[in-house]
Amino acid sequence: MSTEQTMAVTARDTRQTTLWAAMQRAGLDALWVSRPENIRYLSGFASGEDAKLLVRSDTATLYTDARYTVQAGEQSRFPTHIARPPATLEHAASVAAGLRVGFEADHLTVSELENLRQHWQTGERPATLVSSQGLVEGLRLIKTDGEVAEIRAAQDIADLAFDSVRPSIVAGVREDHIAAQLEAFMRALGATSAFDITVASGPRGAMPHGAASARVIGENELVTVDFGAKVNGYHSDMTRTVATGNPSEELRRLYRAVLEAEEAAVQAIRPGAKCSDLDKLARDVLSAHGLGEYFAHSLGHGVGLAVHEGPGLRAASSEVLEAGMVVTAEPGVYLPGVGGVRIEDLVLVTPGGHEVLSRSPKETL
Ligand code: ZN
Ligand code: ZN
Repeated sequence: MSTEQTMAVTARDTRQTTLWAAMQRAGLDALWVSRPENIRYLSGFASGEDAKLLVRSDTATLYTDARYTVQAGEQSRFPTHIARPPATLEHAASVAAGLRVGFEADHLTVSELENLRQHWQTGERPATLVSSQGLVEGLRLIKTDGEVAEIRAAQDIADLAFDSVRPSIVAGVREDHIAAQLEAFMRALGATSAFDITVASGPRGAMPHGAASARVIGENELVTVDFGAKVNGYHSDMTRTVATGNPSEELRRLYRAVLEAEEAAVQAIRPGAKCSDLDKLARDVLSAHGLGEYFAHSLGHGVGLAVHEGPGLRAASSEVLEAGMVVTAEPGVYLPGVGGVRIEDLVLVTPGGHEVLSRSPKETL
């Protein structure tokens, strides 16, 4: 039933070498990779949601099914075994026999783990299954120049889309029509939408993740637009809050406070900066305006093959920024019944400080 594809076994690349070092520190002989972004990062295969990757010291095998034979042949750096479960697990059992095999505890489901136990922990040389966390995610924190180029390309498309759609964000237009226009522009420019677009106008602005609804945008309102483009698996992420007509002084005050917090946080982004300090910096600015309690989420997150990945720019984080990380700074305030403001930039940490990748202008209110 299964077909072994004949493919040249590539030499270990940098990613595999670095992963192997992390696996050794974790006491692993092999790693069963299930998170789609991690499969893509290591193998190049873009449909990780229908694949698994078994990494050993010297090689790795990509497991996927016959729908992807051609695609895997084109994309995967590793030999591919084409099969459907349970044949997949039976083949992998022979590769994993006698080894200490890590699984991704933050991703593998309980039933998938039970399947692994059933297939790998019987027979003469059972594998030992070991819970592991963050091994590949740790590698993904620092982007290569090629990865930064993909993220930059995604952000450039998002900026172009916003520039085109901004004139349409006026009273009388439905939120979901704005979202549809943004998505259409990004698609026309060769990208897809990175996630469900937030267009939250008026009182809906109090919902941090207010997906675009059928609400008609009113006059003298603030409209929060959070969206991103996806190019070759890499994402961008940006939020702008714009005004229709002449918003109240209360709304303007919220806007100016968030802008001040956002710009202060961005200016402090540099190698060596503690993620928790950056979060506190933005929070302190909002608290000074009496708005600290309305900043209901953390300051930001890493962006790459996932929209939300490490490092976490939040109070409880012990992470420190390093050159090559791509992060967001996105303070917001959300007042139930009144509205909300969020402003988010996408920022590359450079050896000398930072570069703001998102270039859409911010309004002055
Ligand atoms: Zn966002
Ligand atoms: Zn974000």
